[in-house]
Amino acid sequence: MRLGVDIGGTKTEAVAVDGTGGIIQRLRLVTGFGHDAVAQTAISAINGIAELCDISPSEFTSIGIGIPGVVDGQSGRVSHAVNLGLDDFDLASAISESLGISVRIDNDVTAAAYGTYQFLRPGASMGYLNLGTGLAAGLVIDGKPWRGARGGAGEIGHIPVDPSGLHCGCGQRGCLETVASGSGIARAWATDDPYPARSLFDAADAGDAAAIVIRDSFVNGVASAVRILILTADVETIVIGGGLSHLGDDLLSAVRGVLAEWAAASPFLASLDLESRVLLMPQAFPAAAVGAALLGGQIRETV
Ligand SMILES: [Zn+2]
Repeated sequence: MRLGVDIGGTKTEAVAVDGTGGIIQRLRLVTGFGHDAVAQTAISAINGIAELCDISPSEFTSIGIGIPGVVDGQSGRVSHAVNLGLDDFDLASAISESLGISVRIDNDVTAAAYGTYQFLRPGASMGYLNLGTGLAAGLVIDGKPWRGARGGAGEIGHIPVDPSGLHCGCGQRGCLETVASGSGIARAWATDDPYPARSLFDAADAGDAAAIVIRDSFVNGVASAVRILILTADVETIVIGGGLSHLGDDLLSAVRGVLAEWAAASPFLASLDLESRVLLMPQAFPAAAVGAALLGGQIRETV
């Protein structure tokens, strides 16, 4: 059995899986904020799943953790995890000091990409487009996660697409993420609805002119992300996941519609058949936790 933990901005999801990623146990916790609280959340998740499985944490084949931010896979240090209050934090050591075993830390989108890949098996290569508060992609190439030379692979949300666009948190202007993300929608579409993206799509469907402009800009941005991933890595399939994938078929059909328009105007794009290579992540599958479990290295006792 393998154990995986996905530490999110508000929730932490943990799973025990078999060697092929089949879920055996599942647990959800509220994520703490700051170095100590995040480490404690991870430790509680590991202990909780071990209890559900009636074994000790050291008896798992591997333990992996997915977390937002820049992760040094060798040292297990986490940086730039702003939503969790972490910067330059040695999460792997904090966990190993408490539990006496080694764990592997990975970026959460990389983990989600790998979990999705194992679940869907969509050919040899796949891009996972994480549409959440931000926009980022995870790549699986020839069955293996592709993290890049410095962990920056797939950070396509920070490709500037509009020189006169909005300032982005990364310091650039007009990044793709400023239009094609949950935060982009929240900034452009003022609403009290707890699901601003759903509210935006509903208003656009009802004919609201302002909503149509914002929705179309968002959908164009998502389609651009698909085009970027295929033109850089030529992955066989792009799977859209993350919180905004709950928009479901409304989102998928709109993105496919834009890709079809581009194909009609460009024989080059038409030859790549972008439209049929985009899928939606099946809902309720804990992709990042499963991926983290499968990416976790062999457990070593550390004390
Ligand atoms: Zn940016």
